Amino acid sequence: MQAVMLKPEHKLALEEVPKPSIDGPGQILVKVTTTAICGSDLHIKNGEIPIMPGTVIGHEFVGVVEEAAPDVRLFKPGDRVDVPACMWCGSCPSCQRGEVQYCETGGVWGGGFFKGRLMPGAQAEYVLVPGADMCALPIPDNVSDEQAILVGDVLGTGYHAVVEGGVGPGDTVAVFGCGPVGLCAIASAQLFSPARLFAIDVLPNRLALAESLGAEVIDASKVDPASYILGQTDMCGVDVAIEAVGMTATFNQGLGSLRRGGTLSIVGLFAEPVQLGLPILGLAGVRISMGLGNLGHMRKLMSLVSRGKLDLSALTTHTFPLSQAMEAYELFEHQKDKCIKVMLKP
Ligand SMILES: [Zn+2]
Ligand SMILES: [Zn+2]
Repeated sequence: MQAVMLKPEHKLALEEVPKPSIDGPGQILVKVTTTAICGSDLHIKNGEIPIMPGTVIGHEFVGVVEEAAPDVRLFKPGDRVDVPACMWCGSCPSCQRGEVQYCETGGVWGGGFFKGRLMPGAQAEYVLVPGADMCALPIPDNVSDEQAILVGDVLGTGYHAVVEGGVGPGDTVAVFGCGPVGLCAIASAQLFSPARLFAIDVLPNRLALAESLGAEVIDASKVDPASYILGQTDMCGVDVAIEAVGMTATFNQGLGSLRRGGTLSIVGLFAEPVQLGLPILGLAGVRISMGLGNLGHMRKLMSLVSRGKLDLSALTTHTFPLSQAMEAYELFEHQKDKCIKVMLKP
């Protein structure tokens, strides 16, 4: 089967690899129908996330069950299935606390390990999914592949940022970064009826999408977002700032836009250390929450999508056949043609 493989010297290639087959209990073999390119795939390509060359990459995918081990309860051949970006065991201390993203024996597709076994990536024609009953979710008939695929990664992460920020009715919220995760955070924040919701980015197409999701947009290439937000909030600042970029500038803007005692909820992944002004932050009493998105909310989010209460179909801007994966990466990496989310169809 064809798959996108990490090669030496920061390159990717479409290669022929063996098709996996069921070899143990709890497994389903998924024929991938849609797989998406994620910003973190570029971090892998560029060596910022260390993965061994020769690994098949990709962690966002949905598909159809081709075969299920006899003990699998929830899935049978022909079922559509949404698989989260990372798998968890359900029984370690982290899983039992409900923090499945920190599972001790779980990992992410495309270089991670599940119970000691390498998890090849999902930008491929087939993926063997162990622990299917624990982590995977059936896709309702009225939910498209393009919406379901977000549930298992970027939507789960955006929603997590909102929950960790403690967003509630009447709050003021600012979301820094309107990429796929930031846009999902905006849509998720709207579920909690904030009084005002600001969205900050520098790309017009991203700001337009944020505006279509009901946010008041701020172009950070034109104004200083923190000063602008203070001016809009009687110099108080927002209750919750969400950082969905992973850069020093947006981190500092997020802190600068907060009210005293407000919360900065970070889901951006940082490549560089950031200096903290603790003397001032202590007096301001801000709280900082950060970490990986908890994907244990998938069932709830799928239900919201299925019932039309969350609609993120506008995030998918491009679709390529898997055979043109290199062209798709070229477009995504250089942000050509106003792309947001790029899908691959094996
Ligand atoms: Zn992702
Ligand atoms: Zn676990």
